[in-house]
Amino acid sequence: MPTIFWFRRDLRLTDNAGLYYALREKRPVISVFIFDTTILDALTDRDDRRVSFIYQAIEQLKHDLEQLGSSLDVRYGNPVELLPKLVTQYQAKAVFANHDYEPAAISRDGQVADALQTQNVAFRTYKDQVIFEKSEVLTAAQTPYSVFTPYSRAWKHKLSDFYLKPYPTERYFGHLLRCAPLPLLRLEEMNFKPNFTDLPPAQVSEDLLKNYAEKRDFPAQEATSRLSVHLRFGTVSIREMVDKALQTSEIWLNELIWREFYMMILFHYPHVVGKAFRPAYDRIVWRNNEAEFARWRAGQTGYPIVDAGMRQLNETGFMHNRVRMITASFLVKHLLIDWRWGEAYFAQKLIDFELASNNGGWQWAASSGCDAVPYFRIFNPALQTQKFDPQGVYIRRWVSEIDKIGQYPRPMVVHEQARARVLAAYKTALKGE
Ligand code: FAD
Repeated sequence: MPTIFWFRRDLRLTDNAGLYYALREKRPVISVFIFDTTILDALTDRDDRRVSFIYQAIEQLKHDLEQLGSSLDVRYGNPVELLPKLVTQYQAKAVFANHDYEPAAISRDGQVADALQTQNVAFRTYKDQVIFEKSEVLTAAQTPYSVFTPYSRAWKHKLSDFYLKPYPTERYFGHLLRCAPLPLLRLEEMNFKPNFTDLPPAQVSEDLLKNYAEKRDFPAQEATSRLSVHLRFGTVSIREMVDKALQTSEIWLNELIWREFYMMILFHYPHVVGKAFRPAYDRIVWRNNEAEFARWRAGQTGYPIVDAGMRQLNETGFMHNRVRMITASFLVKHLLIDWRWGEAYFAQKLIDFELASNNGGWQWAASSGCDAVPYFRIFNPALQTQKFDPQGVYIRRWVSEIDKIGQYPRPMVVHEQARARVLAAYKTALKGE
């Protein structure tokens, strides 16, 4: 009786918790990936870079499995309907997968478990994409943290070698179902156009991490790991990365902990999808000017650092963290446009889009989130540029017309006026807080 291992956001064969437990059952394991139409149908762009990224990762995974005498069964449809059919086809006794903490995924997994139960088939899931999940790191009062620093302290205190031990899947590869290579449908058959970008490798050098603390805030430098897309889709293992961080850079480790912090927040406070973490911030009266939103999206605000960031995002699907903070703050505070609009645009464009971190980042910028920037702190794009791109190297990379007279737009708002306007709007909303 075979077991099905369902790959989701864990697209690797090594150090994969769920795959390890499936293989250890010592029954033949058939690997499955489903291009989920409930997700794909909601995407705006037919040339969405993430679909191409996943496709490439799937091709690699399938190739690796075929080298081992097995294959990857790739389907296209709704997993809630497809998995029971796959179970029947393979006469499987169990389906294994790794945990996913997003509200929609939790609901889907509940439906999958129910559907499989009617076939008397178990659905087993494991922690894989984080070191600590759900309620593993709690305050002394057994409540979830809402402030990062004490959370990270407790996280580090709890960490031991045990949590970093890789899952040695390779020991059990002999249990992969032996089969001939299975067919793989083309992107076009799913109504998507290929859009392959040059991707950073799924590894990070020790040198980079050693210089990380000093250089990470300068967008012109290649000084951050660029691992976000790999962490998002599981083409690297978080255990391996935390181990590297412990040997090289505590500052980088903190970033990996921010990722888990936001996932923990999303799990415990799913209302953050669509609502402010702090309810009073939902009283803000936004201006929501469509034409201004369009200029921000296109990188035509007349603020070079903002425009450089938006153009980097539009052209590559990536934006440096410092610039994500600046562009987000500009939309929310300078233009007084609802953070949810910006969140949705980033969600559409970022190749590393991750609901928890994106929502956390936007609510941080809007001051409505847990442990967010205070509402009266308003990034000044000119000062941010002086500090982090003083020679304008990053800006010139994306805004090439900046030095040509008459070609670059004038600033769409005056900083001081925008500042006064947003302070007044926030003060009114937060009166009595
Ligand atoms: P590094 O600096 O090398 O950091 C290593 C890893 O730590 C990252 O790959 C990421 O997994 C994690 N990390 C770093 N910073 C953060 C952070 N502030 N919050 C959570 N995790 C972090 N990150 C995403 O992965 N997906 C998103 O959709 C996303 N949206 C964001 C939106 C806004 C408005 C802001 C301000 C930040 C957002 N971030 C998001 C966080 C951060 O900008 C990216 O993780 C980072 O820029 C990715 O580059 P890197 O891999 O080189 O990061």
